[in-house]
Amino acid sequence: MKRPTSRTARLLAAVVLTALAATASACGKEGSPPTKGPARDELPEYPVAKDFRLPQSGTWKKARSRGHFVVGAKEDQPYLGEKDPASGVYSGFDIEIAKMVSASLGLDPRRIEFKTIASANRETALQNGQIDYYVGTYTINDNRKKLVGFAGPYYMAGQGLLVRSDEEDIRGPRDLGGKRVCSAAGSTPYQRIQQDYPKATLVAYDTYSICVDNLLTYQVDAVTTDDAILIGYAAKVPEELKVVGKPFSQEPYGIGVPRGDNALRLAIDDALAAGEKDGYWKKAYDATLGLSGVPAPKPPALDRYPAS
Ligand code: GLU
Repeated sequence: MKRPTSRTARLLAAVVLTALAATASACGKEGSPPTKGPARDELPEYPVAKDFRLPQSGTWKKARSRGHFVVGAKEDQPYLGEKDPASGVYSGFDIEIAKMVSASLGLDPRRIEFKTIASANRETALQNGQIDYYVGTYTINDNRKKLVGFAGPYYMAGQGLLVRSDEEDIRGPRDLGGKRVCSAAGSTPYQRIQQDYPKATLVAYDTYSICVDNLLTYQVDAVTTDDAILIGYAAKVPEELKVVGKPFSQEPYGIGVPRGDNALRLAIDDALAAGEKDGYWKKAYDATLGLSGVPAPKPPALDRYPAS
């Protein structure tokens, strides 16, 4: 297809974005199609652990006296972490994981205060005590482990590519030479393109949804990040967008905690192990990410690394 004039491109973007906003704010209960987010009554209720104590954890003690956890998350990633603009309510698989953990640690998940934190700001938010823990497509890796602690992993994603549905040239990362590729600043997919596919022209924004706007308006040729995230964007406008190729990395999702708080990290590992064993992990998956059509995988083995 020919590149549309900038006026047509702007019009197309306006139409698509209106559609996206409408889908994001729809939260109907009956017969909601997958792209509208989970129906409320299908979400699990996590039993709050009674008499749970974690006095070795400074973060837990602070949350406990406050009466709830403050959790960092994403707000524009369909099926994973999405904030309803009208009600301010967060939903998605990462949000469910955050709730499951809070309940296991003895604090009412309905009282969690979610804060949207972009990929590039996660480490600082944990370091300066802005949040107690972070659940938002956060890949565990050794570089980040120098700055924060990680419980998990609780899910395994892989890097992929999102393109316009009429795109024929891009089928994998090797086809990115000379193409404009958008990703989030501070993310592992951004770094991988920079290191392994230097012929691509990289464009960075704070969030992937801005990248998707740029793809729809022909400012970039592809968006790259985890397949789990891209599937959600493609599902919102399936006539306009498609995910291509096979995943070309492993992105184990962890729960970020302040680096020194090993007691909290290991207690969250216990919470994940319990949630996986008693079926809550799968229930959470089925009611959120599972709506994308991908059946629940087996969760990856927990890392549980020693304190350093
Ligand atoms: N999982 C990748 C990362 O942590 C990409 C998704 C994100 O930016 O949250 O960098």
